[in-house]
Amino acid sequence: MYTKVKGTYDLSPEEAKKLASIERFLSQVVSLYGYEELRVPILESSELIHRSSGDSSDIVTKETYDFKDRGNRLITLRPEGTAPVIRSVIENKLYTRHLPLKLFYLGDMFRYERPQKGRFREFRQFGVECIGSSSPLMDAEVILMASTIFDALGVSNYIVRLNTLGDSLSRDNYRQALKEYFSKVKDNLSDDSKVRLEVNPLRILDSKDPRDKEFIKDAPKIGDYLSPESKEKFDSVKSYLDNMNVKYYLDERLVRGLDYYTDTIFEIELEGNDNVGQSQTICAGGRYDNLVKSLGGPDLKSVGFAFGLERLLSIVEDNADYSKKVLVQFIPIGEKPKANLIKKMQEVRLEGITSEMDYDAANLKNHFKSSSANNASFLVIQGDSELEDNTLQIKNKINDKEDYIDEDDLLDYLIRELSGGCSCGCGGHDHNHDHKCECGCGDDEHECSCHEEGHKCCCEEEK
Ligand code: ATP
Ligand code: MG
Repeated sequence: MYTKVKGTYDLSPEEAKKLASIERFLSQVVSLYGYEELRVPILESSELIHRSSGDSSDIVTKETYDFKDRGNRLITLRPEGTAPVIRSVIENKLYTRHLPLKLFYLGDMFRYERPQKGRFREFRQFGVECIGSSSPLMDAEVILMASTIFDALGVSNYIVRLNTLGDSLSRDNYRQALKEYFSKVKDNLSDDSKVRLEVNPLRILDSKDPRDKEFIKDAPKIGDYLSPESKEKFDSVKSYLDNMNVKYYLDERLVRGLDYYTDTIFEIELEGNDNVGQSQTICAGGRYDNLVKSLGGPDLKSVGFAFGLERLLSIVEDNADYSKKVLVQFIPIGEKPKANLIKKMQEVRLEGITSEMDYDAANLKNHFKSSSANNASFLVIQGDSELEDNTLQIKNKINDKEDYIDEDDLLDYLIRELSGGCSCGCGGHDHNHDHKCECGCGDDEHECSCHEEGHKCCCEEEK
């Protein structure tokens, strides 16, 4: 028997469905902010990956899957998405489009790490890159978008940890200060950090080794080394976040694992969650103002984030309902209605509404059994007499009502009901305080009575 490669995992149909559904959800959220998908390869040149991540990063020193292909090219399985996206933007001159470019990506990443809960060798990330904007408002928007994702998933106990790495000048000064500080305790540092001290002392702050942690807590803070410009930028990011009510926690020890970050950086983790494993970050990102240029492109300031999908899935599992959801179950009673409903079902499916019919059901009981297994929201039933009248009986599971409609009105009916139509009682739909009346009373004076302000819906008067 063959077994899976260490650090990889299989997804059952149920798990694959959960993943697909969360990927769809993430894409939808970021598309509200104007992001579009870019697909990039898994194989990239080693030079690109090593250069962008930084030779002193953990990823490059220990984690990349590098190999020579049969043509003797040095290839790396991508360990993250930013470098491939930027490579593609430069190579395909996507930067000639209207800026900023707002792109998202999704896919497998590879890092040779010690597998544990929430840490794999082949794992998936969802990320966004906003390329060509230096506005601190964009940093804030990217963070807002990430926190919106948590909010929309019903996850409330997340913490946004925020810091700035400043510009090159700030970082040079800070690096110098760190070098002086850690040099004094060099002999007590971990072996990795002894090397980091020479190559990139900032990296020491990211160490998880207890020997380093003891000294990290009293190390100099970046805040004291920021150039006036960097300080001003960071203040703007913070005030925009305050303005948008995004809660964050300033963490002056925060650094990122990749070398290309500048100015704003952030990580989002959960408070007191064991599902993800020990203090693991679910989303991480920041600004990278020099990367595009250093990879041979124009001087485009950029900012982005990446979510680890395994870690994200592990925290939403309990909150979200990802069970199979067929929206419409067609139930024919007899052969003639069956032939008719099959055509109807095709029409409905082509409108993007998931529909099913149990072709093997021997009786009505079997049909109902299938519709509950499918979690159907609407049961569309037709027997010989309805067929003769061109009508349909609908059991609407959303508001628990029964409707009889004209066959030709089916699509309109479903679209109206699924768009969360008016719930003020005008159409007898489900009551919901969140949306406005759509019964045609569109004019401003007449708002739905279900609104908290207590406005009257015009349809109310008709009742
Ligand atoms: P960590 O500190 O946990 O190693 P990182 O700083 O290396 O994370 P990033 O490079 O910022 O991670 O990647 C962004 C996100 O991708 C992480 O916050 C995490 O959710 C996810 N991620 C990173 N490495 C792995 C992995 N090996 N397995 C699963 N998810 C991962
Ligand atoms: Mg890592």
